[in-house]
Amino acid sequence: MVNTTIKTTKSQEIFAAAQNLMPGGVSSPVRAFKSVGGQPIVFDRVNGAYIWDVDGNQYIDYVGTWGPAICGHAHPEVISALQAALVKGTSFGAPCVLENVLAEMVIDAVPSIEMVRFVNSGTEACMAVLRLMRAFTKRDKIIKFEGCYHGHADMFLVKAGSGVATLGLPDSPGVPKAATRDTLTAPYNDLEAVKVLFEQNRDEIAGVILEPVVGNAGFITPDAGFLEGLREITQENGALLVFDEVMTGFRIAYGGAQEKFGITPDLTTMGKVIGGGLPVGAYGGRRDIMSMVAPAGPVYQAGTLSGNPLAMTAGIKTLELLQKPGSYDYLERITKKLADGLLKIAQETGHAACGGNISAMFGLFFTAGPVHNYEDAKKSDTAKFGRFHRGMLERGIYLAPSQFEAGFTSLAHTDEDIEQTLAAVRDVMSSL
Ligand SMILES: *Cc1c(COP(=O)(O)O)cnc(C)c1O
Repeated sequence: MVNTTIKTTKSQEIFAAAQNLMPGGVSSPVRAFKSVGGQPIVFDRVNGAYIWDVDGNQYIDYVGTWGPAICGHAHPEVISALQAALVKGTSFGAPCVLENVLAEMVIDAVPSIEMVRFVNSGTEACMAVLRLMRAFTKRDKIIKFEGCYHGHADMFLVKAGSGVATLGLPDSPGVPKAATRDTLTAPYNDLEAVKVLFEQNRDEIAGVILEPVVGNAGFITPDAGFLEGLREITQENGALLVFDEVMTGFRIAYGGAQEKFGITPDLTTMGKVIGGGLPVGAYGGRRDIMSMVAPAGPVYQAGTLSGNPLAMTAGIKTLELLQKPGSYDYLERITKKLADGLLKIAQETGHAACGGNISAMFGLFFTAGPVHNYEDAKKSDTAKFGRFHRGMLERGIYLAPSQFEAGFTSLAHTDEDIEQTLAAVRDVMSSL
């Protein structure tokens, strides 16, 4: 690791060994720190707002295992619920009452969801929802937006966000042309482009899928009227509107973006927070559409570990904790304090920057902005972001190792954590 002031000997040894064992030394690309330079730290344990690496360094964490840790890592109530569930077995592969409990919680929480199906990841949820969109409408084409990420299924690896954006990859080799032939793309926040696609592909578009607030191209919010416009256009064209709330669900509001913005999609995908740190995804929506899923209907989708009792338990306990009065007020207050602080310090230290937050999701771009879409996001000074990231890491602050990922706070982050973070930000930005 270059220019480092923290001791990371063990991290370096373990990561060097990992590179011979696993592609890039990781199980998921962005973790490798490729776009920010230097080497990743190897985690040993996590608790509350903090992580510890294998060399014993402590960090304030703003990744939260990419979103699930909204109550703080290893929350004692989640851990004890899991301990109680564990002795009953790790997997049933059969109906289990915990699925009813979590399903009811999701249906109660998310305005558009009348029925839900559990899967094991956000990727799986998005794959399944796409099949359902096509089956229900009897149309094959879909519209997605540049920089939005809907997991790594072939059909979505067109101008995708997250690791694809972070590593500046072209659309992935190995994806057959046939798999993406029916994936149409438009710039985010561009209703006109969507209208044109609908005109050019009359009665052929099954629906529109999007991140209602983008977190996989950095943090980008929908312009006023954008979500409303999509709702109207899809309705006018007999197409479905699908919110990918894998990141925003239970994060920007208990009922997700659809509650926050008052727009009701036909279908929704979820993941991250509803698994409370265990592998869970889900898709749900209108009863007439969901009734097409097997075995109620003909649209096949299955999973050996789906509805897993441990995963359901972690999800249920996490949602219960989030239901406590004041949770989202707290998340908004603490995250706004961080996001405002970042912008103010950037301005005072002479860096062009823009960003903001919605509830417990935030972002900062090193460009004057405004950032309405992925093209705007790419104007960000990513080399500067890399130096910023490294400086923060050396001061004990763990940020997502990419300019093109949103940041996350949790109920465990305190005012002191935010203040300590902002002091580090001032220090680093002063010498960038
Ligand atoms: C993380 C994410 C996914 C993919 O979920 P995985 O659990 O990583 O497969 C899909 N959509 C969005 C919006 C995400 O943020």
